[in-house]
Amino acid sequence: MRQAQSLKPGSTIGILGGGQLGRMLAMSAAQLGYRCHILTPERDSVAAEVAAETTVAPLTDPLAIGRFADACDAITFEWENVPTGPLQFLGDAIAPSVRALETAQDRLREKRFVEDLGGRPAPFAPVDSADDLARAIARIGTPGVLKTARDGYDGKGQWRLAGPRDVEAIRLPQAPCVYEGWVDYAAEFSVILVRGADGEVRFWDSTENRHEDGILSQSLWPPCDAVAAQVGPARALAEKVAHALGYVGVLTCEFFATAAGPVFNEMAPRVHNSGHWTIEGAATSQFENHIRAVAGLPLGNTATTAGRVTMDNIIGDVSGAHAVLSDPAAHLHLYGKSDAREGRKMGHVTRIWHGR
Ligand code: AMP
Repeated sequence: MRQAQSLKPGSTIGILGGGQLGRMLAMSAAQLGYRCHILTPERDSVAAEVAAETTVAPLTDPLAIGRFADACDAITFEWENVPTGPLQFLGDAIAPSVRALETAQDRLREKRFVEDLGGRPAPFAPVDSADDLARAIARIGTPGVLKTARDGYDGKGQWRLAGPRDVEAIRLPQAPCVYEGWVDYAAEFSVILVRGADGEVRFWDSTENRHEDGILSQSLWPPCDAVAAQVGPARALAEKVAHALGYVGVLTCEFFATAAGPVFNEMAPRVHNSGHWTIEGAATSQFENHIRAVAGLPLGNTATTAGRVTMDNIIGDVSGAHAVLSDPAAHLHLYGKSDAREGRKMGHVTRIWHGR
């Protein structure tokens, strides 16, 4: 393992995780002349299909991670639930840092971290028992949402508690949880930034994000006025987060736009679904800039090049997906997944219009 200031063409970038984010990162890395090595527990990884090398092993296997590190010139990850124990020895060779990963993996730690920086999450309380839940409800009230503190994604590990009946009925999961007050918001948005190893920060424009059943369904730019008015303070917080973590790479912070200003929801220490539009809609995509940051290269221009952009996720069946190509505004991305399980992200369509 060698940590270089700037990786030469032909160097190998290791990616922990083998999903669509790894696939799109590997495609950008290839464009810049890098090889990617994917470490994934999945035999049918969609990132492996477009990478130079793949190791199939559990992400908890210290021997596999040691060999992987020896074979790579720099390491990054595409999945925020990568177990951090076996990564500690990597030190500066992994970007973003293990600390950034640990902060984002635990909802409680993440919210406290952001509060300490002056950010405002929804009212929250840790819940490890029925008594904790009762206390949390007494203080915060309903409606609210109970979330597992770790390992949740795309609305999984979340239960909406509309009122006292739901509170009585719920059987707590055998895992640490956090209860959050329900946020009454006008819209959701994300701030996506890239930070280089020298501390330079660049932001992409913020889209308005629409969710269905806790899963992102659409991102829109320009966003509604409520979002546009709150991007400034949200960016200021996201930048503080990035600097405080000594972050290198692309960082996403998700927010609710409320009447009282932006409420922090969560962060993802990685490229994000709400930034997929940057492939065609920005001068440099989130994927390319993540690779540039990890490789120690100059960051690219993040400016939006389109007048209007929409990004729609394709969830489930993709058999008729090519039909969208008759729309001149559409750019189709299919991830190559064979198994269209319910709620699984299979691809996305970005539509670009040059005038508004
Ligand atoms: P999360 O995994 O925490 O990002 O939650 C997924 C989605 O559920 C969010 O993007 C929101 O649409 C919704 N959601 C989560 N927490 C809250 C909350 N406290 N108040 C309102 N909506 C929420």
